[in-house]
Amino acid sequence: MEPFSQCTNETLAKVDVLLTDVDGTLTRDGHVPTDVMTAIAALGAAGLTVIPVTGRPAGWAHMMINQWPVRAAIAENGAMAYVRHHSSIKEIFALGRAGSETHQTNAMAIAAAAFKEFPHLALAGDQPYRRVDLAIDHAENVDPLSVSELAALRGFLMEKGAHVIISSIHVHIQLADFDKAAMAKRVINDYLDGVDADAVLAVGDAPNDEPLFAAFSLCVGVANLAKAAAGMTSLPRYITAGAEADGFCELAARLIAART
Ligand SMILES: [Mg+2]
Repeated sequence: MEPFSQCTNETLAKVDVLLTDVDGTLTRDGHVPTDVMTAIAALGAAGLTVIPVTGRPAGWAHMMINQWPVRAAIAENGAMAYVRHHSSIKEIFALGRAGSETHQTNAMAIAAAAFKEFPHLALAGDQPYRRVDLAIDHAENVDPLSVSELAALRGFLMEKGAHVIISSIHVHIQLADFDKAAMAKRVINDYLDGVDADAVLAVGDAPNDEPLFAAFSLCVGVANLAKAAAGMTSLPRYITAGAEADGFCELAARLIAART
């Protein structure tokens, strides 16, 4: 990865859509600070479309689309999205509505089996607000799992047929083909007229952002991504000097300056 300072203003001036992860990218010590909310509003005022793309629940994305200055909010690692369209908010499910319910029921059965093997684990605290996904807590409200414990859990879930996505805090049980990039492309193609791939920049910090890093050519990691980079196959071209929210604000300031 190259320092983000080496990304040219010419490249940044072409960006119309900013896809941004939330935890570890918009947060500082677990909270979205006021400078990030100010930066998101300033990006919108400068003409950029900002779309949070998170592993967090539909319920959180519903709050974002209603209360944040964003055009869309993609949740549950791409399983669903809310999009502001004309005067209404559209709900999009990668697997359809019925498929989403079936997915969650089947994933819950696998999680129940995992809890028998790993009795100290629990569902993610935000699980009640998910519509499709099933998330197990590995570091948020439980003592963090060690690398070997996390690997053992991952192996158990994979033996049960799950595709396993690990964020900085949760282990997601995925039984169907959806990801952050596929939903981002669907939202851009169906709701944002005339945006081409060169006009999209994606920023993130963790392995669940890899589909974005693989799908879009202009990608940036915030500095804390370096901690996870060794275990990742798709990395962004650039990495910011600042970690978490500081890195996002560094990116936002350059995107705005490049347009003016
Ligand atoms: Mg993250």
